[in-house]
Amino acid sequence: MDVVLAETAGFCMGVDLALTRLDQLIADADGRPIFILGPIIHNPQVLKHYAELGVVMVDAPEKVPGGAYVVIRAHGITRQVEEELKARDVHIKDATCPRVKKAQLLIARHTGDDSVLLLYGEADHPEVAGLVSYAGNGYFVFDTSEELEQYELVKGKKYVLAAQTTQDRVLFDQIVERLSSDKDVDVTVLRTICDATKLRQAEAKTLAAEVDFMVVIGGYNSGNTRRLAQVVSDAGTPCKHVETLAELPLNELVGYSRIGVTAGASTPRMLIDEVLDGLESL
Ligand code: SF4
Repeated sequence: MDVVLAETAGFCMGVDLALTRLDQLIADADGRPIFILGPIIHNPQVLKHYAELGVVMVDAPEKVPGGAYVVIRAHGITRQVEEELKARDVHIKDATCPRVKKAQLLIARHTGDDSVLLLYGEADHPEVAGLVSYAGNGYFVFDTSEELEQYELVKGKKYVLAAQTTQDRVLFDQIVERLSSDKDVDVTVLRTICDATKLRQAEAKTLAAEVDFMVVIGGYNSGNTRRLAQVVSDAGTPCKHVETLAELPLNELVGYSRIGVTAGASTPRMLIDEVLDGLESL
């Protein structure tokens, strides 16, 4: 059996940067407590590792005690939460991915007039909560073009279209095309989808066409990992999304001659290596 690992599998720049900052802080904190506001990335194994090092995760700014460090995760936080933190006696370490930050600032700049934000993203995703908090004049979040179809766009009103950084670029382009073809709709398009996602998805699609089976590794609550598994399934290749080797039914894979492996942007190398070792043992 051949096992082929995607070159783009694993941490993206933003996640790598956030975890490097957290590691640095743990080394320099000198006993001062460290809190994370929400999961620093969407991977339960990584979160367990930091919990064991004493990093405490909380879900609201008021739960961070005075004098403590608080790390803002790669997905960013809402404008309101940032204001609340700034008003308190805590030390903020901002590990928001630079690309997410850029998307937040672009949305703020382009919706500063009376434009309404149309955001292609997962409504319950923390990055989306952060992005829409920068919309100056209302917003609508949709996850499919059908949902957008049901939203009534008003003639003469101005709209700004943007996307969660990990969304599917092909679908986004279709949405742009559909809105641009409507002469009654005034839409400014912000290209906020991250290249890391695009490259990872493109490679997964190419790899899926060259193998008999694909394994996608990453947190079940990781949006970009779920989307990666979706891209592979859409390509028609049988696929299994797992968080760790323990969930991979190795005995069912014996008959395959070529297996591809990729991983989401928040999947640590250690978990990828475990899966590779498991497959190579076949
Ligand atoms: S996928 Fe892109 S935007 Fe998201 S954290 Fe990684 S580098 Fe940043």
